[in-house]
Amino acid sequence: MKSVVDNDLWGKTLNAIKKNIGVGAFNSWISKIKFISVDNSTLKLSVNSNFIKDAIITKYYEEILQNVQRYIPTISSIDITVCDNNLTASDLDVPGSLFAKTWKNKNAECQNSPVTLKELNKNSALDKKFTFENFVVGQPNEFAYAVAKNIATSDNSGFNPLFLYGGVGMGKTHLVQAIAWHKRNTQPSKTVIYVSAERFMYLFLKSLRLKSNINFKELFNNVDVLIIDDVQFIGGKNSTQEEFLYTFNKFIDSERQIILVANKAPSDLPGIDTTLKSRLSGGLVVDVHQTTYELRLEILKSSAKKFKIPVPQSVVEKLADSITSNIRELEGALNRLIAHAILVNRKIDTEMAKDVLSDVIVSNDHLVTLQSIQKCVCNAFAITRNELLSNTRIRTIAVARQVAMYLSKDLTGYSYAEIGKVFGNRDHSTVVHAVKIVRNKMSTDINFSNSIKDLRASL
Ligand code: ADP
Ligand code: MG
Repeated sequence: MKSVVDNDLWGKTLNAIKKNIGVGAFNSWISKIKFISVDNSTLKLSVNSNFIKDAIITKYYEEILQNVQRYIPTISSIDITVCDNNLTASDLDVPGSLFAKTWKNKNAECQNSPVTLKELNKNSALDKKFTFENFVVGQPNEFAYAVAKNIATSDNSGFNPLFLYGGVGMGKTHLVQAIAWHKRNTQPSKTVIYVSAERFMYLFLKSLRLKSNINFKELFNNVDVLIIDDVQFIGGKNSTQEEFLYTFNKFIDSERQIILVANKAPSDLPGIDTTLKSRLSGGLVVDVHQTTYELRLEILKSSAKKFKIPVPQSVVEKLADSITSNIRELEGALNRLIAHAILVNRKIDTEMAKDVLSDVIVSNDHLVTLQSIQKCVCNAFAITRNELLSNTRIRTIAVARQVAMYLSKDLTGYSYAEIGKVFGNRDHSTVVHAVKIVRNKMSTDINFSNSIKDLRASL
């Protein structure tokens, strides 16, 4: 049975990787991988969270590839899918999988059809809400807005490439999708494509797998405006960066508009090749600044107007004052108030807001909530909140717990004792210890440190 051979090969690969990267890193990341199948070009693996997938692609893609190539030299790519369900033995039992032509998967058809512009268009659906009309302009984003408006309304803006960056939830995606909406509505003959960098990479790897790299290179030939969001994702992914640079150069050379969005300025993006960095900095680089109280107030007022239920000025002010981390969280809080008002038929006032949003409006210095940290860490490590708060010493869970405690200390105004309480009634010294461990590890392990920074940015 080929699958047994494949499993054995995967086992040998794992041993080699373990030797190279050490047991600690191996247990934290590689042990989370489930082997699915291998043929002569692609190794298929799965993990159960996007965080782990991203970490593995960033840190160990080349390591895994090189080790598998020792057994199957023709392998050129690794496909990692994210799935929640544990794979069963029958999933692994792909007949003749070493040289299989097909991969048993419910998405087999779409997995194996070549990448087309139509597919790209279909999957780059824009959010209906993300228009210029719905974008509130204030001092932190007025320049970004003016540039976006200019690109949207002129044929040849001269701002090429545009590189837009800023923190999470600051309205970057909203703004670039507004450009796409405007172009599509006013110049329907133009092809405007919005794609995330992750999707760009997925499509590229897919075309490699299907050996249709030429097809991928031609994919963007008829695109007039290309928007690539979350460019930071390709940090450390060398082959994707090469392809990205190729596409980028083609747009610049043929004077077609390309817009890049990221969470950091080009020069600060980790793992991005120097040539690409300098190319990205070569056009107009614009940052969307942290929100001000005034902008948050205006955004809330504008969102509140869309609901039939009145939201008093005092409540809007309280929210704008308490929730400063990002606009998404601000909108979430407002939505919760409205939902509560409708479902339990309670008038919205400051008291009600404090009750409903007790986790958000703790006091002015508790900006990121403990609950949001716990939720975010649970998602990232693919564990449940019960596991996070439990006494288990299973390594991933213990690490997740320490990371969550560290972020809580760093991002909220709570004391060690208060944090211990919400983490399953633990003693304050446990929290002190956890914070110390995470700090130490961050200072010695750059990959770990980057993962924590990403986690923090996503809060
Ligand atoms: P980013 O891409 O920077 O992480 P998004 O564009 O996804 O952030 O914005 C997060 C949420 O905040 C979206 O629902 C968006 O509509 C809203 N938002 C952000 N900035 C503004 C703004 N200036 N006016 C109105 N809504 C905004
Ligand atoms: Mg975004």
